[in-house]
Amino acid sequence: MFYSKNYSKLAAFAILLLTFSCQQEQKIKRYDDQLFADYDQYKEQSLKNRRIKHSQLQPLIDKLRSKEGIEITPLGKSIEGREISMISMGEGDIDILLWSQMHGNEPTATMAIFDILNFLTASDTYDAQRQALLKNARIHFIPMLNPDGAQKFKRRNALNIDINRDALRLQSPEGRILKRVRDSLNADFGFNLHDQSIYYNAERTEKPATLSYLATAFDYDKSVNEVREKSMQVIGFMNDIVQKYAPGQVGRYSDDFEPRAFGDNIQKWGTSLILIESGGYKNDTEKQFIRKLNYISILSALFGIADNSYALINPDEYEKIPFNDRKLFDLKIEKMNYELNGKTYVLDVGIDLNEVDNEDHTSFYSIGKVEDIGDLSTYYGYQTIDATGLDYQQGRTYLLSDDDDLSSISFSGLLNDGFVAVSTDMASDSLAFNSYPINFVKKDAGFTTRLDLGQNATFLLKNGDSLAYVILNGFVYVPGNSTDFIKNGIVNK
Ligand SMILES: [Zn+2]
Repeated sequence: MFYSKNYSKLAAFAILLLTFSCQQEQKIKRYDDQLFADYDQYKEQSLKNRRIKHSQLQPLIDKLRSKEGIEITPLGKSIEGREISMISMGEGDIDILLWSQMHGNEPTATMAIFDILNFLTASDTYDAQRQALLKNARIHFIPMLNPDGAQKFKRRNALNIDINRDALRLQSPEGRILKRVRDSLNADFGFNLHDQSIYYNAERTEKPATLSYLATAFDYDKSVNEVREKSMQVIGFMNDIVQKYAPGQVGRYSDDFEPRAFGDNIQKWGTSLILIESGGYKNDTEKQFIRKLNYISILSALFGIADNSYALINPDEYEKIPFNDRKLFDLKIEKMNYELNGKTYVLDVGIDLNEVDNEDHTSFYSIGKVEDIGDLSTYYGYQTIDATGLDYQQGRTYLLSDDDDLSSISFSGLLNDGFVAVSTDMASDSLAFNSYPINFVKKDAGFTTRLDLGQNATFLLKNGDSLAYVILNGFVYVPGNSTDFIKNGIVNK
């Protein structure tokens, strides 16, 4: 009797639980479709490209000071004396800490943070949702943790150390700031925001890993405790959203424990840590679409954490995300014929466009380099040329006469005739790039590059006597198609 009574109580409880979870199921509210549709209203227009500087953020932070409910905390200074600020809002019990640009050349989420701040400080049809969010959570943003690195668009800080390997030794003021803030808030959730190589893909697919996630491990055994399980659930929640807008373009990092890294330690210190890495997306060099994906998915995650709906996500969803791999090139040429010593070979070529900054790190030129040659059938390209039956050939050099003027030259005319360079006095030793769709060489010199690893990717692909493609500094020009755009040539010294 005693037992059966208890059993029936248990059964009743189980039914109650089931009903409750069904109700909870209905409670998941997502706004990502709306957020996607009206994003431009909130996009911070003053941030346009990746090479953003500390000085561009200061006026945006100053503007926020006048907004109700916003608190700005000066956290301290970088090695070169740049103020690192934290922007906090909301009065709930759930503390959420987000920091971006711990690595100076990883700014995509920084831009998204200011879009999110524009959203959170607006007053419009989202007022009810906003109020609910800020009633349950207190959200803290550190938009630029490494302003000295950002100034030079480089990963490391002014001491040339990787702040993400300084979580134990804490030599950098930037690392000490992050540790101090984490400890003082004892945050429930932490968003560790980075950029990764654009050449990462979702394993065994041609899809770039536009966003990659990691629920960081806190020990060598990769144990899963309650803290880490929450990270997995939040990531599962976000993955579901991102898949809608970039299907198949999400990856997952290996969860090998790194004892010196912040993510791993913050997870260990009791904050559910979500690592987000912005990768590549076709034709999105300045990562503005990826910024939008950050905006939608992070903002949705904040809503999901505040109303606890993320907790309904099965942590197994996290494990279903494919691993990151690094199998992408900017340009992959498949099966071209290549002649050497009288014999013809069939080769694939992988080419990447490497960025070389201008002096003040506000813009860049590209240099197209041959990264790999051979059977690259397990690799993919953002752009792929099927060169079956096409022959590799070196390009020609156009001798600029004294009467010729660069501004009046038809570059498409030259490219159509297989010229890949002009010889000109403008090819001085100091100029490594030009802003023309053709390479420069010194007067009376010819432009020659061999097909070799690390060499400039400039050559022709010919179909018999006719020209099929011009590969110029890694960019592709299709003869007769004047809409192709080659961003810059190089100057051959
Ligand atoms: Zn990073």
